[in-house]
Amino acid sequence: MEELIKELKKLPGIGSDGARRIIFYLMGKGAAEVDRLTALIKSTVVDYKICSECGNISRVDPCEICSNPLRDKSKLCIVEDVEALMNIETSGYYDGLYHVMMTHRQIFSTGEPDDEQQENLTRHINELKPSEIIIGTSPNVTGQLIYFAIMDAIKASDHKPGKITRFAYGLPAGIHVEHADKTSLHAAIDFRAPVEFYENAKISSARI
Ligand SMILES: [Zn+2]
Repeated sequence: MEELIKELKKLPGIGSDGARRIIFYLMGKGAAEVDRLTALIKSTVVDYKICSECGNISRVDPCEICSNPLRDKSKLCIVEDVEALMNIETSGYYDGLYHVMMTHRQIFSTGEPDDEQQENLTRHINELKPSEIIIGTSPNVTGQLIYFAIMDAIKASDHKPGKITRFAYGLPAGIHVEHADKTSLHAAIDFRAPVEFYENAKISSARI
């Protein structure tokens, strides 16, 4: 058991207690559940494909998002990695297409996209011809490097989108202004959004 605990602890977010709990949980479930999980891990982690259009990971190419006729093809959201894409998808608030800039291996090795990645984005923009490009990079050093690479790729494309927007940075939901850190406050002030008043004085916010 110690050897398995040691291996499980190598996984992100798993400590000794968590590893032990997982093992006891699986012991309680029995061999069938272990086989099912092993097969699922293999099919998800090993047998995946990278979508040749957007860079998402999927069991099919093109991925379920690119091949979904209900998605709004006039919007292209460019994110740094698949985890960001999945998080936006979970929010259920975006119905356009995506472009994933980096593979996991690249994020961990160089931290910035290479020429091939930029060319892939330029090709995707030329093929899709979106009317809006939304840049969804993170507000940190890696995100900023990727942002510049994205801008270069957009400049290199023949298609000129009507609108290029970027995710707003600032205060996280639920936080009180007095508890916000300096960086978030600076960003919130820099990226402040216009407030639109209608006749009934309701404040509206734009939906992406
Ligand atoms: Zn795709």
